[in-house]
Amino acid sequence: MTTTNILALLKQHFGYDEFRPGQEAIISNALAGQHGLVVMPTGGGKSLCYQLPALATGGVTLVISPLIALMKDQVDALRANGISAEFLNSTLDNRTAAQVERRAQAGGVRLLYVAPERVAMSGFRRFLGTLDLRMIAIDEAHCISEWGHDFRPDYRALAELRELFPQVPVMALTATATERVRRDIVDQLRLDDCRRFVSGFDRPNLTYRVEPGAGAWESLLDLLEERKGQPAIVYCFSRRDTEDLAARLTSHGHEAAAYHAGLNADTRRSTQERFIDGDVPIVAATIAFGMGIDKPNIRLVVHYTLPKSIESYYQETGRAGRDGLPSDCVLFFNEGDRAKQQYFIQEMTGDARATAERQLQQMVEYCRLSTCRRKYLLGYFGDSGVGDPCGNCDVCLAERQSVDVTVVAQKLLSAVIRTGERFGAAHVCDVLLGRNLKRIRELEHNKLSVFGIVEDYDRHGLRRITDGLVERGLLAKADGQYPTVSVTESGRKWLRGNDKLKLELPVQKTTTRTERVRASNARTDDAPDADLFDQLRAVRRRLADEENVPAFVVFGDATLKGLAASKPVTPEAMLRVSGVGPAKLARYGEEFLAVISGYIDGLQSRSGKADGVTDRPRPGGSHGQTLLLLQQGMSIAAIAAQRGLTRGTIVAHLERIKAAGGEFDVSPLLPPPDKTNRIRAALTSSEDGRLGPVKEKLGDDCSYEEIRLVRLVWEDGKQ
Ligand code: ADP
Ligand code: ZN
Repeated sequence: MTTTNILALLKQHFGYDEFRPGQEAIISNALAGQHGLVVMPTGGGKSLCYQLPALATGGVTLVISPLIALMKDQVDALRANGISAEFLNSTLDNRTAAQVERRAQAGGVRLLYVAPERVAMSGFRRFLGTLDLRMIAIDEAHCISEWGHDFRPDYRALAELRELFPQVPVMALTATATERVRRDIVDQLRLDDCRRFVSGFDRPNLTYRVEPGAGAWESLLDLLEERKGQPAIVYCFSRRDTEDLAARLTSHGHEAAAYHAGLNADTRRSTQERFIDGDVPIVAATIAFGMGIDKPNIRLVVHYTLPKSIESYYQETGRAGRDGLPSDCVLFFNEGDRAKQQYFIQEMTGDARATAERQLQQMVEYCRLSTCRRKYLLGYFGDSGVGDPCGNCDVCLAERQSVDVTVVAQKLLSAVIRTGERFGAAHVCDVLLGRNLKRIRELEHNKLSVFGIVEDYDRHGLRRITDGLVERGLLAKADGQYPTVSVTESGRKWLRGNDKLKLELPVQKTTTRTERVRASNARTDDAPDADLFDQLRAVRRRLADEENVPAFVVFGDATLKGLAASKPVTPEAMLRVSGVGPAKLARYGEEFLAVISGYIDGLQSRSGKADGVTDRPRPGGSHGQTLLLLQQGMSIAAIAAQRGLTRGTIVAHLERIKAAGGEFDVSPLLPPPDKTNRIRAALTSSEDGRLGPVKEKLGDDCSYEEIRLVRLVWEDGKQ
């Protein structure tokens, strides 16, 4: 298949205009019938790599995924794009499962998602034999390896699938960075001629920052204020902390829920769902939260406590910004947090303890970096792809100026020498600052001439200078758990001479909290069309509720931003926005176009340009036309056809006319009486009035449209 053809399929089915890095090569390989191992960071766009070939080759592509909770969302997202997808897992009753199987056998299913445990069942394998199976995609493929962090014994059964269907190409996908696990995946699955596609691990849209733990609460409020209502995760140390923080945030106007392993399963599930659906924007959580959170628009991941290791930190922050939009990862670092972790490590023994100590040490090192944080993180995973500076971490972003540090450097080096070159930088700084600490008194360091001789720097500032002196080679830092500092030969030489010393230091932030908030508000106001974006979000929310799917199934944030920026008012123009394909245009287009038109009209009348006629459909006018046609006795289908809109949109018009107090007769539109009664009964017994559960209860022979029409009448209390 040519590049042009695959690109056409990409637009046709997913609404995207170009591939993300790596996707095209992976897709071509699959289309050539070859095995592939795909290693891509979270949010890199792995799913598309098998979804697109599945559409191009026809038949059935089997997708194995361990995340049962996500299957329905994934399938809903595909369906919203007009792609026939189904899932089979333990949440389906037998009857529904049998229906899905029959549909797959009849060739009506392109992508079939299943949980790995099903593959181990002999009945299921026989069923697979009756399908036109074209490809097997194995998501989270690292689960097959005992070396990985998430081994699942069920994944071992997948090797047998290979024996049963040796001719079917396999695509194994993972975000795991270690080479050992990658090799294990290929070995276990016996993917002999397997091509490997390993993308860099950089997530360029994430900004990494470390901030002092001392002002953590105030800074957290700032961060949330700047991103009011946007999804955020705050990782905390203990279960108690998550609950305290959630309560405190909520009382400060930032609605937050707590999540930890000590809550019962129902609460955990509902918190997770409310977060994914956007009902609660912030979750304060222990690290128990995250696996299986496939929410594309998390804008902020905060570590209110020190993570266990660089690996877990990178994984946890990786949950931010999957949609590729700018997102922040902020870690609050307290020297005290280190002690907390150390306390637990002391309980460990042997190798585990050594590992935990090393990991903690690396984490602390990361926090204290005065060089690019991204470079450090990627270097940890053996990815040297980022040039220094990355331009998107606090260190790189900090404005620097050359500062004369001669005097304070002399004091620092002297203090290191006077204390015997046996202590860490923290202790030396405490001595210089003249802090009244037990340890200092015991060592009698308060009697030294260097005690309390620094007044023009705080602890943080002194640490930066220490780092600078280490970088310049005037100080040396020992390796190991307690890195003591000593003065190098060139340090002594400099101390004896009278050369000046200048360091490039970050300009100190001197703005106050209010100033920062004000500045950020100004930014939002300046941001063109933030209003429109909010309106589009509201429409998305409503449509998602009506269909009982998470908001991102309708459109991602990136697409809403694209809509807000380009403001299409015709279907053709809307189709040019990334993320809008024909299926979604037909399904949701008119609702969004109406909002955009309304917004533009509002702008024009405010600026006095268009008091008269405009050539765009006004929302009110559009509803009026629908009503007129209805009163002429036309069916929903006929009105939709005549107006070039979807039937769902026509029903939505009726709902809004009704809500605005309009009168019309729905009865000719209702399904036959027995069906109407069944739907009414289901609606009456529904707890929250959401349509999804009602639809699920009624099954396939009642459509959303029918249910909504019945609801129109029933809500009115007329029948
Ligand atoms: P992964 O499984 O690698 O974590 P996903 O497959 O969930 O990532 O994709 C992450 C996000 O990127 C999704 O919102 C997806 O729709 C979007 N995406 C994938 N491919 C493209 C593309 N070519 N253009 C724009 N967005 C894309
Ligand atoms: Zn950087």
